[in-house]
Amino acid sequence: MKKTIGVLALQGAFARHMKVLESLGVSSVEVREPDNLAGIDGLVIPGGESTTISKMLVRWNLLEPLKSLIENGMPVFGTCAGLILLADHLVNWDNLPRIGGLNLTVARNAYGRQIDSFEAALEINIPGASVLSESPFTGVFIRAPRIVADGVGKGVEVLCSFEGCPVLVRQGNILGASFHPELTGDNRLHEWFLSNIVTGAGSGKRAG
Ligand code: GLN
Repeated sequence: MKKTIGVLALQGAFARHMKVLESLGVSSVEVREPDNLAGIDGLVIPGGESTTISKMLVRWNLLEPLKSLIENGMPVFGTCAGLILLADHLVNWDNLPRIGGLNLTVARNAYGRQIDSFEAALEINIPGASVLSESPFTGVFIRAPRIVADGVGKGVEVLCSFEGCPVLVRQGNILGASFHPELTGDNRLHEWFLSNIVTGAGSGKRAG
């Protein structure tokens, strides 16, 4: 059956994610209020400004429904600010209202300021995902959050590291990237999310 993916569209880089999903033949819907969550098979949480997205999640009554859907196994891919909103622990920002679910510690803006934004050739080696290891994946880091190297807790798989810190992680139904994967026209990571986490979901609560 054809899948429909929600893209959290409160603020930030959601439009490019929808284009990528469209190019992969998947329907996507903008999620701005709880009603938009009906019937989605997964969710993308884009980059942007995590403090703004957090405020809007609270204001539009999305925080609790999202927490419970994700806890119950809904596949989710959080990128950059999306990763921050999925992190269980934040350096200095632990009071930020957020979804959580990834048992790790994230430091906001820890790769530097906007002018320090950079691209990196990432070696992603996921067993069974040969298309991803065929050639490096260009990760775009824009005021990116850093996953603290010794802050990765039980249940989290590190799928890619860069300069000693994890940049792509998975915990059951939750995939998180500290970079933007939607900006370079390389759709392999979205494709992997769809074929490995979205398809085959429904096996219950997330592990770990
Ligand atoms: N610096 C942003 C934040 O902390 C994240 C940047 C991004 O999503 N590109 O929310």
